[in-house]
Amino acid sequence: MTTPEIVADVLAELTDAPAEEILAVAARRFPGRVAFATSTGPEDQVITHMIAEGGVDMPIFTLDTGRLFPETYDLIAATTRRYGLSIHTYFPYGAAVEEMVDRHGVNLFRDSIELRKQCCGIRKVRPLRRAQSDLDAWVCGLRSGQGATRQRVEPVEWDDAGELIKFNPLAAWDEERVWQYVRAHDIPYNPLHDQGYPSIGCAPCTRAVEPGEDFRAGRWWWENPDQRECGLHHRTGAADRPVGSE
Ligand code: SF4
Repeated sequence: MTTPEIVADVLAELTDAPAEEILAVAARRFPGRVAFATSTGPEDQVITHMIAEGGVDMPIFTLDTGRLFPETYDLIAATTRRYGLSIHTYFPYGAAVEEMVDRHGVNLFRDSIELRKQCCGIRKVRPLRRAQSDLDAWVCGLRSGQGATRQRVEPVEWDDAGELIKFNPLAAWDEERVWQYVRAHDIPYNPLHDQGYPSIGCAPCTRAVEPGEDFRAGRWWWENPDQRECGLHHRTGAADRPVGSE
């Protein structure tokens, strides 16, 4: 059984622990009940590398919304090839996508925040909840300070929406450290990052940012910055109240 109280217990064990130790503790504490959710961002690629190279016993999954960049699919293929591992893909329910597109059009997310949330809900949040249904804990690549909606991230948090524990092994890392690690270990990454895309999600909802712009300014850029989350990361007491991940 997982409860928010366990978070404090695990957090005490992980004070100042390196990312590899956080992953090891997650796997040890929740054998067969924890998985890593990758969006293939550089942080996630670092974690995939640590799991593969460190022999961590933890399945990896991703969400395919059906609207990803071609470069993202190429990266998933390159990553599974490089590490000889499998990344399980969760897709949205076809009937739900069909009904949504029939009613509101293929680019409904441009029409209102509510429709954008609906699209994120059907294409991302519901598949995530399905992925989490057999888990007590999940791991993701959130860092503190990733834009206006992610100011402070703890190594372990209670995930209200999914009702399970969330491990953030890179909570204390900054962007420079992530990229140093990626380059030092020659980890595959999305080439769009070299073309001005610091945060990459679905193709129609992601644009390149200008130098000096917020990390996540290119995500749902037509909306208020406070609204720019997709509902994958609902954190009690944090600024990113749920709306519609990455
Ligand atoms: Fe839909 Fe855009 Fe959300 Fe992707 S990011 S699920 S295309 S609204």
